[in-house]
Amino acid sequence: MARAVERQLNRGFAARGYRAACFDRASPAVDLISELREREEQVALVVADQSAAEMSGLNLLREARRLHPEVRTVLLCAHDDLAAATDAVNTGLLDHFLIKPFDGERDLLPIVSDLLEGWQGTRDRDAAGVRLVGERESPRGDQIRRFLGRNNIHYQWLDPSSDEGTELLQKVAEPERARLPLAVFADGVAIGDPTNLQLASQLGIPTRPERDHYDLVIVGGGPAGLAAAVYGSSEGLSTVMIEREAPGGQAGQSPRIDNYLGFHAGLSGSELTRRAIIQARRFGAEIVRPREVIGIEPENGDRVLHLSDQSTLAARSVLIATGVSYRRLTAPGVEELVGAGVYYGSSPRDAQERVDQHVFVVGGANSAGQSALNFARYANEVTILIRAGSLAKGMSQYLIDQIEGAENIEVLTGTELAAAYGEDRLESLALKRDGEVGEDPVPADAMFVYIGAVPHTDWLRGSLICDERGFIVAGRDLAQRPAVWPLDRDPYPLESCMPGVFVAGDVRQGSIKRCASAIGEGAMAVQLIHQHLAGSD
Ligand SMILES: Cc1cc2nc3c(=O)[nH]c(=O)nc-3n(C[C@H](O)[C@H](O)[C@H](O)COP(=O)(O)OP(=O)(O)OC[C@H]3O[C@@H](n4cnc5c(N)ncnc54)[C@H](O)[C@@H]3O)c2cc1C
Repeated sequence: MARAVERQLNRGFAARGYRAACFDRASPAVDLISELREREEQVALVVADQSAAEMSGLNLLREARRLHPEVRTVLLCAHDDLAAATDAVNTGLLDHFLIKPFDGERDLLPIVSDLLEGWQGTRDRDAAGVRLVGERESPRGDQIRRFLGRNNIHYQWLDPSSDEGTELLQKVAEPERARLPLAVFADGVAIGDPTNLQLASQLGIPTRPERDHYDLVIVGGGPAGLAAAVYGSSEGLSTVMIEREAPGGQAGQSPRIDNYLGFHAGLSGSELTRRAIIQARRFGAEIVRPREVIGIEPENGDRVLHLSDQSTLAARSVLIATGVSYRRLTAPGVEELVGAGVYYGSSPRDAQERVDQHVFVVGGANSAGQSALNFARYANEVTILIRAGSLAKGMSQYLIDQIEGAENIEVLTGTELAAAYGEDRLESLALKRDGEVGEDPVPADAMFVYIGAVPHTDWLRGSLICDERGFIVAGRDLAQRPAVWPLDRDPYPLESCMPGVFVAGDVRQGSIKRCASAIGEGAMAVQLIHQHLAGSD
């Protein structure tokens, strides 16, 4: 069977640059995987049979993951192995499994194709589309790397003291050379200390809407905004989505979304985002970034949006899907070290940069749990700090089980941060346990914070009705407020107090704060927008 699978895989994927090798026993496979690691060559995918001679399929995959953390894994197993396969999916070891017997061409090839596409997506980012020279661990260096990483832009980061960094700097003229971090693009253009907008426009990303009037403008490119972009454009509305940083929103930070229907082995937020962007573009939606919307007002039957560069954009309808972000920690020393060891949220790439480090994760919700597990794949030690007495208060049981099973994750309950210390970057943390600050600060390489949910609605205050925490009130909930609703008809579900301006996802008062619900609301909003556009108001 191995030979037949090998032929099918080579027939299907050799043209894309992959080479398949199949073995009847586990040991030559392990030897090849180790040899490729030594040669610094990548292994994209390993398919292993649980009943393989010499080593079980799961142990082989475990070894492959140890040597190549990004490798995609598929297990071929019998019905009797189902419980072990499901556990392996839950712990993140397995991307997919197939019950034997199966048809190679019909069942295995589509899975392989899908997994390779995802693997290629992460790998593309490592190619050198733009080269940057500067201090990695500086606040601006961190912002740039996050911006590029979250936008899936290829980059290579060079230290100014490295041979390659010095050589590149020598080729660039003053004054740009003196302004680090310096970006050097494939066409030779060099920009010192570039803004995110300069980086994006130099890389050919659409940073301005093509028109000045649309049927639908979507503010925010998280799951809710992306869903609305797909449904709006596929249903004939001229649609533009304006995103201030990177499409994907919070979901784009998730290393593995396990509860999204249809993806039984989970999928990363960046993969979900990559697929959604392709889908939205296919239907003709424009995706503009990085641009921030800073105001909205009704004007002559349209809704006019003000952008941070002072330009305006008019639309027959608007969907606000600006989501939430993490609350800031107020402990002394934290603010000064943001970007230099202290981070709010993370991008999936952050974990790969934490090899052998001691990483602290602050927060007890699912986002903190997922990230801790992802860091644990690379870091030496991960410590989760929570104020509550147990993780059960805010985290799903499946994540708690994985955390309990991870040897290098420690959970400190009843603990909060008292202070952060470091000269140029984070060096240690003072912890307060059960009300007492520990005598000695604990050494720390990095701290990632995942607490609270603050809606992105400052720019809307005075224009739309928000609740006391800043979430936008919409639909039937408006009736309970002394709202100024100007029309005879009732507001549609998801409609804000400004007719034609709808709200979807985490930013809406009473929303569920899940990917599926944000996506559902984004799709539903488009249907309601059609009703609004067909009406007389
Ligand atoms: C690490 C992590 C893991 C998670 N894991 C899961 C999970 O496993 N399962 C699950 O169901 N949910 C998960 N969630 C929650 C889920 O990601 C959110 O519920 C979902 O992303 C909400 O989508 P949204 O579109 O409403 O908002 P967001 O995802 O918050 O997106 C809002 C977007 O709007 C942009 N924006 C804000 N203001 C402006 C402005 N003025 N102009 C232009 N753009 C603006 C932001 O930059 C952002 O990209 C996770 C969240 C995190 C952080």
